Amino acid sequence: MQSKYAWKNLDLVNTLFLCLTPLIAVALTWYWLSTESFQWSQLAAAFVFYVFSGISITGGYHRLFAHRTYSAHPIVKLFFLVFGAGAFQNSVYKWATDHRTHHAKVDTDEDPYNIQEGFFYAHIGWVFLKKNSILDPKNARDLEKDALVMWQHKYYIWIAGFSGLILPCLVGGIFFDSYLGGLALGGFVKTVLIHHCTFFINSLCHCVGTTPYTDTNSAKDSWYMALFTFGEGYHNFHHFFQTDYRNGIRWYQFDPTKWLIQALSWVKLATKLKVTPVEKILQARMNMRIHGLKKKKISQDFIQELESLQQKVLANLAAFHEMKRVFKVERKLKNEVILRQIKVKMELAHLEFQFAQRQLQLKLQLLSHVTA
Ligand SMILES: [Zn+2]
Ligand SMILES: [Zn+2]
Repeated sequence: MQSKYAWKNLDLVNTLFLCLTPLIAVALTWYWLSTESFQWSQLAAAFVFYVFSGISITGGYHRLFAHRTYSAHPIVKLFFLVFGAGAFQNSVYKWATDHRTHHAKVDTDEDPYNIQEGFFYAHIGWVFLKKNSILDPKNARDLEKDALVMWQHKYYIWIAGFSGLILPCLVGGIFFDSYLGGLALGGFVKTVLIHHCTFFINSLCHCVGTTPYTDTNSAKDSWYMALFTFGEGYHNFHHFFQTDYRNGIRWYQFDPTKWLIQALSWVKLATKLKVTPVEKILQARMNMRIHGLKKKKISQDFIQELESLQQKVLANLAAFHEMKRVFKVERKLKNEVILRQIKVKMELAHLEFQFAQRQLQLKLQLLSHVTA
């Protein structure tokens, strides 16, 4: 059987670019170190370019343009389009089109980076193939209406060359006395690192980690992958709730892309941040735990008891949120007596929610001891 990586199937530009950039990065860095002296300032400048381009992919290409999880000021969009191009991962238009197909057809033959075809294919192999270089714009019509996106698509190669290679070279030469050092570290080394860290999202994030929200696809959550991917390691959550601007939903989960979007919203440069209702998140988590128990052949009565407790948790949480909503409305009317009553009802609803949730947790704990 002929390999899918046969010559006639290869996109030569992509293949050569991905194979040559690591070699050029090593050769240039070696030449720079053997002809000039190492400077920490060059490394720091390269790190800044790495962050600029990396976060433009996650915060811009991914969460802003591909998923529309928030709206951004044109200045922010321009920043993401210019520095995102410098990551050499194609224009937003092409990138977002592929990515939307990935979500819609995950784990099937139509998924451009289908993990079922193997780790290598999902990581980098798919970029080598001609069939994946074809632009299929049917699911990115909204992007066609965005003048900035189409400007970046039209001049992609020039913008990418400028922000990805020329600008780091100029900064290295003008501010830190070495054009070569700037080109080596801020240009090529940065590009290779961003490539593979982004590719990890398509490969490792579909292989290693946990499935707290859904097991209907291969996406996994892992805190350690979040460290290399500007917070995209919480991929199980992301595949289930793709319109949420966050990937790591808890405050302590490492998601610098989420923190950047939050910071931009404080200065009104990002608006309409989409957040999944907490009931939906809780329901998905509880469903997964009960689903796991069903596989262990637990008695039907016990499962029913857990499911009714789950309903109770969700109903109490909904009641609490309703009270919160009423409180906000009544606050404007400034009737102290009514406000105090609502506050008490709100506290009661919260306590009932916490009680039902604790009951469910203890039941699950009891069960894990029995089945251990
Ligand atoms: Zn996505
Ligand atoms: Zn994915």
